[in-house]
Amino acid sequence: MTHVLLLGGTFDAHVLSTRLHEAGISAVYSYAGATLTRRTPALPTRVGGFGGVAGLVQYLRDQHITHVMDATHPFAAQISAHAIEACAQVGIPLLSMERPAWQAQSGDRWTQVADMNAAAAALPCDGGTVFLAIGRKQLAAFATQAAHHRFVLRVIDQADEPLPLPAANCELVIARGPFRLDDEIALIREHGIEHIVSKNAGGPDTYAKIEAARQLQLPVIMVDRPQLPPRTQCETPDQTMEWLAHAR
Ligand code: NAP
Repeated sequence: MTHVLLLGGTFDAHVLSTRLHEAGISAVYSYAGATLTRRTPALPTRVGGFGGVAGLVQYLRDQHITHVMDATHPFAAQISAHAIEACAQVGIPLLSMERPAWQAQSGDRWTQVADMNAAAAALPCDGGTVFLAIGRKQLAAFATQAAHHRFVLRVIDQADEPLPLPAANCELVIARGPFRLDDEIALIREHGIEHIVSKNAGGPDTYAKIEAARQLQLPVIMVDRPQLPPRTQCETPDQTMEWLAHAR
């Protein structure tokens, strides 16, 4: 009998959970538990890490998982790498769903960099107000820049742990996407934002800040996705459901 593990934590995973539920497919939705608030998916859920590759292998076997769908964020590279390894060990099919990366368009002022250290290094030395639209996990690289810059940091919920950026230089904006173009333009104007640092997440839900930057002619430091080993991939929930229909 088909029993799917859906690795989630994204809006697309939420959509997929509804699709699986509506199709009457037995599945469980897995969260890391990284945020305090989360959307309620249509599927039964489990929360928290598996305990590395070995823990995930054990879980797949214990729960008689037949297929794994990895709909985690493109920057959640560790769990995706673990899923590749664990599915290979157990011998079950894995599909990764990732929206295509955004491409720079005419009018965009992007500096593309490989990682957060390079993003911090790419900020101009003469200061300014920087919108960090990168979550809270990889802020340490920007701490060394904090003497020069003021940061506006957007996160999904209030931090439990202190941030590595000094409070005097860092303003928190608590909000969950999807975000609208008008709202992003208003946010940029309200906070006097001069630079944007963004992960190249792809997809429509967080793209409005990139469109806003284009309209306002602001520079964007765009961080490329981490590299992962080869795996079967698709781009949309529709394609993911088609893959499952064939794989079953
Ligand atoms: P990560 O670095 O790839 O994973 C770190 C550890 O968290 C993994 O080794 C795993 O622990 C656990 N984990 C991650 N996703 C999990 C899931 N869906 N179910 C169970 N355990 C999970 O991930 P991350 O960048 O911290 O992201 C955490 C979650 O937030 C992901 O589910 C991702 O989809 C979501 N998210 C991330 C970003 C981002 O920019 N990174 C943005 C939006 C949403 P064990 O090794 O113990 O199994």
